[in-house]
Amino acid sequence: MDELNILLNQIKAHTEFYKNSIPLIASENLTSLSVRRCYVSDLGHRYAEGKVGGRFYQGCEFVDEIEKMAIKLTKEIFEVEHANVQPISGVVANIAAFFALTKPNDKIMSISVPCGGHISHDKYSAAGIRGLEVLHYPFDNDAMNIDVDKTRSIALKEKPKLFVLGSSLILFPQPVKEIAELAEEIGANVLYDASHVLGLIAGKAFQHPIKEGADVVTASTHKTFFGPQRAIILCKNEFAQAVDKAVFPGVVSNHHLNTLAGYVVAALEMKEFGKEYANQVVRNAKKLAERMYELGFNVVGEDLGFTKSHQVAADVSKLGGGAKVAKKLEEVNIVLNKNLLPWDDVSKTSNPSGIRIGVQEVTKLGMKEEEMKILAEIMWNAVNELKEVSKLREEVRELKSRFDVIKYTFEEHPAYLFPEVALNANL
Ligand SMILES: *Cc1c(COP(=O)(O)O)cnc(C)c1O
Repeated sequence: MDELNILLNQIKAHTEFYKNSIPLIASENLTSLSVRRCYVSDLGHRYAEGKVGGRFYQGCEFVDEIEKMAIKLTKEIFEVEHANVQPISGVVANIAAFFALTKPNDKIMSISVPCGGHISHDKYSAAGIRGLEVLHYPFDNDAMNIDVDKTRSIALKEKPKLFVLGSSLILFPQPVKEIAELAEEIGANVLYDASHVLGLIAGKAFQHPIKEGADVVTASTHKTFFGPQRAIILCKNEFAQAVDKAVFPGVVSNHHLNTLAGYVVAALEMKEFGKEYANQVVRNAKKLAERMYELGFNVVGEDLGFTKSHQVAADVSKLGGGAKVAKKLEEVNIVLNKNLLPWDDVSKTSNPSGIRIGVQEVTKLGMKEEEMKILAEIMWNAVNELKEVSKLREEVRELKSRFDVIKYTFEEHPAYLFPEVALNANL
């Protein structure tokens, strides 16, 4: 079939491009082959609506054991009372959390998109679907964080029912403790969306939201965590029933049993390698930021040591803006995204001031501080056109060719496998 060949060739070309590129999108990561194996199993053909031990269809005996493992490992890794492992994505988890914690027309406070908040925290997406009125936290641009004092005066007046924390552009821990105290005072709840930093929390390299006072945590499992594209919800026991009901029958019917099994593998990898990985990720981000700054990039968060997460943000408005810079970097096979910064108006989405960089994926491939310095130099040369594009693309390929093996897994293996190779590989 011509069409099938065309499709296969597109997948091959895509894989080849990534094999020769430096991937720096902060929301992505690579999974190990043991995780990927689960995707192609028979589990991907089945349904298991309901809970472990209480399914609506027959044939779920083994699925129950898999889901039990997923719940047990999640509770163990995050030291929480309750875990729901069924949401099929971060946005779906957020919709469920809003259903569990709010009623239509309630007010919530969340971080605006330019300040780093996720679209699903806003009226255009999940919060809007729940019919919530969204107020934005006042933001301290220098601290790249919520302004707690100003938030307090707004909250005492407006009495929001829910405080949403956690961001898509997140350089520093957020004031969970202070917001949780404020929430207590006015009878509100705290939801922390840990989609970006879940792997760092698992590796104990970032703030643990529930230990600091959050009631419920939602998170994608594929950004700094090692999993397939899905999500989890963590909470205190008192929210367990509301959360479970909001997930099923609320927002999932099929909960994608093949990637659920893949998540179990990812959790086992995190348990074993999470600490070492998460700490290396944070060290790499810091080194990359420092070298970028030395070279002349306007890196965000200078006074605070640039970053305490997997991310680095730079204001590139003097270099042509985020769109132009991201495109120039793509020409030399460096893949990242343009990003709004707190001082941008939302209408600047097409060419915002910033770029956002994540080092979690290159760290999974074994890169360390030394490579971060090389990377910063290639980026500076590309953005300022100090070397020819072909020369820089060659430098990227050379650097990447030394790092194409998946680390932090039980059996290291080549990262870029075409589908047929992956299926036959005997690992
Ligand atoms: C990525 C992200 C999400 C969405 O997760 P999906 O799995 O893509 O649906 C939600 N919240 C935050 C903060 C994110 O960064």
